[in-house]
Amino acid sequence: MSTLRFHAVKASLKRKPLNIKENNRRSEIFGKNVFNETAMRQYLTKTALSSIIEAIEKGTKINRLVADHISTGMKEWAISKGATHYTHWFQPLTGATAEKHDAFFETIGNGLAIEKFEGNQLVQQEPDASSFPNGGIRNTFEARGYTAWDPTSPAFIYGTTLCIPTVFVSYTGEALDYKTPLLRALNAVDNAAVAVCKYFDKNVKKVNASLGWEQEYFLIDSDLAASRPDIVLTGRTLLGHSPAKGQQLDDHYFGTIPNRAMSYMRDLENECMLLGIPVKTRHNEVAPNQFELAPIFEEANLAVDHNSLLMDIMQKIAKRHNFTVLMHEKPFSGVNGSGKHNNWSLSTDTGINLLSPGKTPMSNLQFLTFFINTIKAVLTHEELLRAAIASASNDHRLGANEAPPAIISIFIGEQLTKVLDELETVTKGKLSPQEKTDLKLNVVGKIPEILLDNTDRNRTSPFAFTGNKFEFRAVGSTANCANPMTVLNTIVAKQLIDFKVEVDQLIDKKEMKKDDAIFNVLREYIKTSKAILFEGNGYSTAWEKEAKKRGLSNNKTTPEALKVKIAKSTIDLFESLGVMNKIESEARYEIEMEEYILHIQIESRVIGDIARNHVVPTAVRYQNILIENVTGLKTIYGDKFTAFAKEQLSLIEQISHHIEAINSLVTKMTEARKLYNKQIDIEKKAKGYCNKVKPFFEEIRYHCDKLELMIDDELWPLTKYRELLFTK
Ligand code: ADP
Ligand code: MG
Repeated sequence: MSTLRFHAVKASLKRKPLNIKENNRRSEIFGKNVFNETAMRQYLTKTALSSIIEAIEKGTKINRLVADHISTGMKEWAISKGATHYTHWFQPLTGATAEKHDAFFETIGNGLAIEKFEGNQLVQQEPDASSFPNGGIRNTFEARGYTAWDPTSPAFIYGTTLCIPTVFVSYTGEALDYKTPLLRALNAVDNAAVAVCKYFDKNVKKVNASLGWEQEYFLIDSDLAASRPDIVLTGRTLLGHSPAKGQQLDDHYFGTIPNRAMSYMRDLENECMLLGIPVKTRHNEVAPNQFELAPIFEEANLAVDHNSLLMDIMQKIAKRHNFTVLMHEKPFSGVNGSGKHNNWSLSTDTGINLLSPGKTPMSNLQFLTFFINTIKAVLTHEELLRAAIASASNDHRLGANEAPPAIISIFIGEQLTKVLDELETVTKGKLSPQEKTDLKLNVVGKIPEILLDNTDRNRTSPFAFTGNKFEFRAVGSTANCANPMTVLNTIVAKQLIDFKVEVDQLIDKKEMKKDDAIFNVLREYIKTSKAILFEGNGYSTAWEKEAKKRGLSNNKTTPEALKVKIAKSTIDLFESLGVMNKIESEARYEIEMEEYILHIQIESRVIGDIARNHVVPTAVRYQNILIENVTGLKTIYGDKFTAFAKEQLSLIEQISHHIEAINSLVTKMTEARKLYNKQIDIEKKAKGYCNKVKPFFEEIRYHCDKLELMIDDELWPLTKYRELLFTK
């Protein structure tokens, strides 16, 4: 086995960066493989084009006749670009993207054939999808599920396949994917925000949520990665002693990007350009061999699709460069993990970012309205927001080994804290003209357009206001952003609806002026929302204590965190806004719990296997060498041999001790697994895996890592941390 390690190391050292040809005017190739407006203008009739634009802007339905025109145009465009197949591209709850390719090619009898793609093939498909997770939905109802075209996200060509973004729903209409609830949540926040915008500007007709994600990842040489069974099967290392040098020198962060990685990034970014993914920023991250890629933000649904697509092509392109991309939140113990910051804001069709301070007191009152309502929404639903980012892999970051913590709190910076403090003192009821002028001039009017202290980022905050957007930093690097985006937009929608009711009541019943009513409601929100605001170090026990006093949840593990997903309040929330019905909410809970169990189960099997079948036999082999040596010394020196064999004898004993510990721990862990496999109650089973199986990982690892330090490097079968992390 150790020969595999050395072959891998040897191969990795010989690599050269690929030579990438790149068009340095990226705007010229941007979106070339996307059926965007330029392509549509060329390939569609006027009616077809305006029908698509209306569908995108107003959500109207496209009729079948027009769909036929569109599909024909789309097919011609795709063929002109070298495509032979088409697929409905969707995001089932497995976390990966799914596709099944069909050729345009069709026979028409008499030995003749044509290329064909009809409207109904564009609009709807019925993939054989019986093995996608459905949380019991398809068992209870209909066995079938179908995909339906989402015209708001443009079709694109990848390789030689035309990919059509679709939703994936059961025959009875329940969502089986990430996209469906997201689209419903975006619709809810659109309606709620437009209604509130009308207080400030009657011309607003649509509000879009924007998302700019920042994807962190590790690049590991593919031979090195393939030599580690834990990386191959679980995406992370389950053992491995930390190297003498880690990230403590901070010499990788923002440093020169290594040549091979650079060549990979250029290749990847080139592909992103063709696919219309507007990537803009790349840099080294904190840990060795860790990097980040970020785009220019886009409408949230499109941004989610682009991130899913990106994660897929990152792996594909990595193959060409002999890299394996590790997306896992914590691939290496003792080394920084990866997240995916979700930068979020709301903007109007009149071109205003509702989370950006403006130039006039009125626009700033609008800004404060959306800013404070978001804070209030996060406070009310902090536990649900935590649940939206829960996964076995993200548990390693949240509250376990690194910031941000599992407690959701908001960082807003010094300047806005001051503004809120002043607003809190606004008089109850009608405001005097003097007070109103004063407020407008000295409080609201003085919010600077650019908030300076927000450049001083508090990296431990899970949810931070950064000048003109909120940054949800606790999202994990493997996550599909649709999940947190669905929750965030839903809770903000709900909050805005409640806000409008309260303001309208004050206007109608108390005969208050609009501004007075808004100030009054916001003042009360500020008073009650303080518990969620926190500027300090979130990764500390002091904050844990403080947060507990404030009544904030601190759900450190996925089974605990997910529970709120089936609370009555959650089910009612999603149902009342038309985002998910009860069946859908419950199904998702079940799918995520199941996924958690499987995840821990696989990790447990893998660590058991590596410890027993790789580490222990190596330890025995090395121990035999030592024994041989000691026997030899005894032959030479007779009774005096111990003077020369002290170290060897001590090692022999220590090795036996670790072998014994590993064997008994693996046996106990296997027994715990067997016990919880019999458990039918999904909550009990997940908790069993979490609290009774998972804790063995650290213990087994401890003994294996000790052996790694003791055993001859020549014999050690597992590629070491220094080789994985420092091979460039
Ligand atoms: P960081 O310092 O955290 O990397 P950046 O300013 O580089 O922050 O922005 C990170 C991401 O935020 C980018 O994807 C960017 O496009 C996005 N972003 C910027 N403004 C907004 C906004 N108003 N709404 C949503 N995302 C935004
Ligand atoms: Mg960021």
